[in-house]
Amino acid sequence: MNEFRLDPESLSFTLVSKEPTKCKACDKKSEKLASFPFRKGYVNVYDIKDDVQPSKFELTGERFKSSNADGYEEITVENQEHGDNLRTYSTEEIEHLLWFLCERKRVLNKYNFGENMVIIRHLDQHGYFDTLLLHVPTQKVPGSRCTECENVNNTNDREVYKTENFVLYVPFAPKYGGEVIISPRKHLAFEDCDSVVLFDLAGVLKRLLEKQPQETTIAIVQMADRHFKVKLFHGAVDAYSVLGINRIDRSPEDISKELRAKMSNGT
Ligand SMILES: [Zn+2]
Ligand SMILES: [Zn+2]
Repeated sequence: MNEFRLDPESLSFTLVSKEPTKCKACDKKSEKLASFPFRKGYVNVYDIKDDVQPSKFELTGERFKSSNADGYEEITVENQEHGDNLRTYSTEEIEHLLWFLCERKRVLNKYNFGENMVIIRHLDQHGYFDTLLLHVPTQKVPGSRCTECENVNNTNDREVYKTENFVLYVPFAPKYGGEVIISPRKHLAFEDCDSVVLFDLAGVLKRLLEKQPQETTIAIVQMADRHFKVKLFHGAVDAYSVLGINRIDRSPEDISKELRAKMSNGT
């Protein structure tokens, strides 16, 4: 069973769930939920049912809190093939794709899928975005200050590039190789972006993607304070780990059961 567990020491989450090995776009089974015209074809949206499921969210337990893994996942596919597609798109085309994602977020906001969003894309693989909405890891604390507003006001020597609306910087404490962040200079939620802002963002992305190595991961991230940012990493990074959630593919109870059997057999 897929389950979120809260580590009582670090207060970080672990997801007990197998990581899918097949390409989600090639392996999709559901009917399309929405489509938008793009280039000579369409961008199609499909929901993904085999990873996390919409359900009533409740962390239960005293010190050891857990919950059935819940949330929502869908993929937005603009290409039928694998390959380095986003890099070859124009700024206008990248802006269109970002606009479709914003439009979907506005639709999904009607449902209670959680405040934590990651939209991930692995460059040089299949041309699709994978959207995850979750109730963990963060929940809004009334009156708390926005962390990302603090970040963009304190980029100092880590600032790389700036436009009217965005700043590109290296985070204070990167978690992965090649980690850079493109963030709105003023507090802004992803779903509140207009096409002018998205065109600006697409321009920064286009310039940056030309300089990125193969196997780059792009992640649009928004958490409870609703100040989105785009993170880029070298290599393939798991969507959950972008949100700071560890993933293990076997339950701790299964692992201990197997180990108990081994210990009692003396093998
Ligand atoms: Zn594929
Ligand atoms: Zn902010």
